[in-house]
Amino acid sequence: MNAAVNRVVVIGTGIVGLNVGLRLLREGMRVEFIDPRPPGSGASYGNAGVIAVEAAVPSGMPSMLFGAPGFLFRQQGPIAVKPAYFLQALPWLVRFLPACRPHRVEQISAALHSMTRFALEEYERLFADLGLKDDIRRTGALMLYYTPASFQGAQAAIQLRRRRGANIEILGEKEVQDLEPASGPVCRGIYFPDYASLDSPQRLCQRLADRASALGAVFHEAEARSIGVAGGRSVSILCGDGRDLQLKGAAVIIAAGAHSRGLAADVGCDIPLDTERGYHVEIANPNITLGRPVLVSDGAFFASTMQGRLRLAGTVEIAGLKREPDWRRADAMVERAKTAFPGLRATEWTRWMGFRPSVPHSLPVIGASPLVSNAYVACGHGHLGMTLGAVTGTLIADAILGRDPMLDQSPFAPRRLRSFNPRIHRPAHPPTEGAQA
Ligand SMILES: Cc1cc2nc3c(=O)[nH]c(=O)nc-3n(C[C@H](O)[C@H](O)[C@H](O)COP(=O)(O)OP(=O)(O)OC[C@H]3O[C@@H](n4cnc5c(N)ncnc54)[C@H](O)[C@@H]3O)c2cc1C
Repeated sequence: MNAAVNRVVVIGTGIVGLNVGLRLLREGMRVEFIDPRPPGSGASYGNAGVIAVEAAVPSGMPSMLFGAPGFLFRQQGPIAVKPAYFLQALPWLVRFLPACRPHRVEQISAALHSMTRFALEEYERLFADLGLKDDIRRTGALMLYYTPASFQGAQAAIQLRRRRGANIEILGEKEVQDLEPASGPVCRGIYFPDYASLDSPQRLCQRLADRASALGAVFHEAEARSIGVAGGRSVSILCGDGRDLQLKGAAVIIAAGAHSRGLAADVGCDIPLDTERGYHVEIANPNITLGRPVLVSDGAFFASTMQGRLRLAGTVEIAGLKREPDWRRADAMVERAKTAFPGLRATEWTRWMGFRPSVPHSLPVIGASPLVSNAYVACGHGHLGMTLGAVTGTLIADAILGRDPMLDQSPFAPRRLRSFNPRIHRPAHPPTEGAQA
């Protein structure tokens, strides 16, 4: 156990920061959170709510080594790079391509699987520990393919999941209809009976925050601008409101999602973090109900019934943290959903854009800074942050308490990344995410 630490300051109250803070509260530590926005209002607010227990598939697959340039530049395609952001995205893209090589995909998949396999178990442990009602529904999830070619294109990912022991059922059109009567004509479906889902990701965050508050956590409504380091330790956090929060006897955990890069650099961690922006639309009175999240694969979005509304959430846009949302991407999901679910009534909907915190190799960065003894990072969860929140909380608690980790942490350790001197790089990204229209 790191005996010197009895207080922690967690930067960020998304699903990751909240899970970290709660785990440490349960260990008897004093916990403070810093965030300028209410809990669960970043990427953790508007996602698809899928607890993807068998998602051992990285974003980069071997097929992308050859196919990437074409589909990346189709501006209204499900995956796109904004031309004006291309040069800034280049370092990320340059690291993304080697991560698509078959042997790397295999390694990344094994590492992801080492975390996703504990995803539900760790949430259950957390809920039981906190005496909270389990917010997670055991619904399974369904992925739909509309042409033989698209189903063929999914084979590499299916084989990869199978090599990780995933429970997968391949369904024909009739079986898909039986499972999800609202779906229109399909070629094939892939059913994951062990997946789970959330009725409201934001409500889960709020409930975790409420429980943290009841356990004595303090919430500072402020932006962390930079972390001061002296003598190999982080000593203070300079906040946007001018406060200089002292860290004597405390550890700091950077869990600011897609905005973590500058803060992590302050404590010596050079994380190649960018954002894959995603969108959602939430359709009121949709006239259909889905029993589980359904992936409309050619649109790259999940459709889920959440609190009576239909949420369409997904797509990938590489355009950084500062550009205005391109709402055409959200509207395109509605158009595609009308054909995927013929009974859908879409007359009124809200739109949202959020920032996935993404690293090129799809592995979150979790653990101690190699250079600053009382600093930890927990970011880069990309497409899987809701799934991996509770496991991440446990891994960070293990690291701070000096316990044997529940799994091999080395693939996620910040020290595997190139590190450099603290305080050379300044935080670059003010939090502006969660734009709504
Ligand atoms: C469209 C879409 C669909 C998705 N679907 C799924 C899914 O089905 N399943 C899944 O597992 N994952 C999904 N994800 C990914 C998931 O939402 C993210 O990985 C996860 O929410 C990241 O959590 P986080 O806590 O790291 O970041 P966030 O939720 O973004 O939280 C970061 C927090 O840090 C705060 N912050 C930022 N800068 C500062 C600062 N300087 N000082 C203080 N606080 C700061 C922000 O205000 C925010 O509250 C999806 C994402 C998107 C966009």
